[in-house]
Amino acid sequence: MALMAFKSSRRIETLAVHAGQPVDPATRAVTTPIYLSTTFERDRDGEYPVGLSYSRDNNPNRASLEACLAALEDGREALAFSSGLAAVTAVVQGLKPGDHILAPADVYHGFRRVVGEVFAHWQLSVSYVDMSDLAAVEAAIQSNTALIWVETPSNPLLKITDLRAIAAIATKRQIPTVCDGTFASPVLQHPLEWGIDIVAHSTTKYLAGHSDVTGGALVVREPHPLFASARISQRVGGSVPSPFDCWLTLRGIATLPLRVRAQAQSAQQVAQFLSQHSRVEAVHYPGLESHPGHDIAARQMTMFGAMLSFQLQGTEEEAMRVAASTEIFTRATSLGGVHSLIEHRASVEGPDTRTPRNLLRLSIGLENTADLVEDLEQALKVS
Ligand SMILES: *Cc1c(COP(=O)(O)O)cnc(C)c1O
Repeated sequence: MALMAFKSSRRIETLAVHAGQPVDPATRAVTTPIYLSTTFERDRDGEYPVGLSYSRDNNPNRASLEACLAALEDGREALAFSSGLAAVTAVVQGLKPGDHILAPADVYHGFRRVVGEVFAHWQLSVSYVDMSDLAAVEAAIQSNTALIWVETPSNPLLKITDLRAIAAIATKRQIPTVCDGTFASPVLQHPLEWGIDIVAHSTTKYLAGHSDVTGGALVVREPHPLFASARISQRVGGSVPSPFDCWLTLRGIATLPLRVRAQAQSAQQVAQFLSQHSRVEAVHYPGLESHPGHDIAARQMTMFGAMLSFQLQGTEEEAMRVAASTEIFTRATSLGGVHSLIEHRASVEGPDTRTPRNLLRLSIGLENTADLVEDLEQALKVS
């Protein structure tokens, strides 16, 4: 089933509501129905009249979601997966034994696990480098480097990678680039515009936006061999999202631009509050002028996002006590939903984490900003 990309000259709020989601031709339903059928009838001549045969291969709800994701990134095509890490796995499956990967030192910890555990017998090598140091990136490239993976803003230190500079370094040597854009969402940053080959998302986070569905996505602007192999991984390997998961994700996307902008505005105020607090040693938020990546973030993002972290002046135990004392912030992992979350990141990442022990990560939700600031204020007082 080919869903025409909704006119891409439209703006993101319009695309979020309409792209890939025409009125249902069979029933005139305004909201796309959920197609649970796993199989579709062939014509008498054996043809598939609308291009649908079996739902692992293609499904109307997945086609809708993919068309919408492609439009949001101003891309050409998208693939939807059953999780963000399934999307990562699909990219890595396109590499050959002996290939070398360059990834950020503070990459999402699940990436390390995919490469180290899922691909343990694949004979891949990885160099983890500080991607904000372009000389270090150049120095780490090897003759067998087959993928440069970037993540910006990064987790949990909110480091900023210069997408245009990385794309230039990679293009010169014809090395494919993928940017995990989960923290920014397509509302705040378009990696493809800066020359990155593939953008990856955990749609579990801002895109679906309500902490109620797991999913992942890849989007490209130009056909790319790694995207073609990821499609095989999705359709033949079978890491597909269910029709209901696709429907829920699209339902979340309708409000994505409004949510993310409100959340980013709130985060800026929370970051400013924390940066002036006497018990706080450091705040990591690219919207603060003191952040080392502030100028690059100002160029490649339209706002600075709704994720931040801070280090308490004190021990791990004291940081834990602050997290234990919040009343609105929920103590939970993940991000991008309507609930504000607080998390002691080092203990989630396990024994080999590089995250400072006194660091707390915040995902700013949609509650009232003053309430959130007051909640942190009292938690920092009582603990
Ligand atoms: C959550 C997350 C992932 C993994 O996505 P899942 O949907 O949990 O599999 C990848 N990258 C980043 C930046 C994330 O936050």
